[in-house]
Amino acid sequence: MDLRIRGGGAVPAGKVIGVVGNYALHRLEMGRAGVGPAAGQGAASEGPIPFFLKASSCLLPGGGDIVLPHGVGRVEHEVELAVVIGRTARRVAEADAMACVLGFAVFLDITARELQAKAKKEGMPWDEAKGFDTFGPISEVAPRAEVPDPHQVGLRLSVHGQVRQRGSTKQMQFQIPTLVARFSRAMTLERGDVIATGTPEGVGVLNPDDLVEAEAEGVGSLRCRVVAGPAP
Ligand code: MG
Repeated sequence: MDLRIRGGGAVPAGKVIGVVGNYALHRLEMGRAGVGPAAGQGAASEGPIPFFLKASSCLLPGGGDIVLPHGVGRVEHEVELAVVIGRTARRVAEADAMACVLGFAVFLDITARELQAKAKKEGMPWDEAKGFDTFGPISEVAPRAEVPDPHQVGLRLSVHGQVRQRGSTKQMQFQIPTLVARFSRAMTLERGDVIATGTPEGVGVLNPDDLVEAEAEGVGSLRCRVVAGPAP
């Protein structure tokens, strides 16, 4: 699947890394109050940065229909800033991490919340809950040079014009150079890989016929319609 680059060109999408709990108020709403360092202070913590992988087949470049799989229960939206990698990063230093970034996009980390909750409880992976087809709408990629400060980007998500999520990437605890550097220790980051940097508070349920609009200010926007998937 190709990600379109604003101003021309495209890049084939690779793996999608999702950061867990990178915003304090989202951790709170998920029942994990007080975990981790304060906003912007992630670099000082040497502890692991929890993450999961979303199948690249879940991507929905440019938006479109988010399909609710039959019988999985509640499906929720999470609006996030996505970092798209531009060049191979392996054990890269934080100081060199931004040079490996192609650009940024607005991303929806769509989640089958009840499946995820069941997986958490049973100590099982989240791959299914996070990885259904269409669970990764992503906008065009704004080139890095066109985003003056990716840690000062407003995030907004509305359903039928009603704002559900409003936040700023300045609330992220682990900032982008830290995420790129740390993840590049665990696995090589390649051109076209996507890091979904976490969501601010206000996640909520999606229902058939919902119109979802999301924006990362100065980066990109998305429009998606929610549809019910077919019965098996
Ligand atoms: Mg997320």
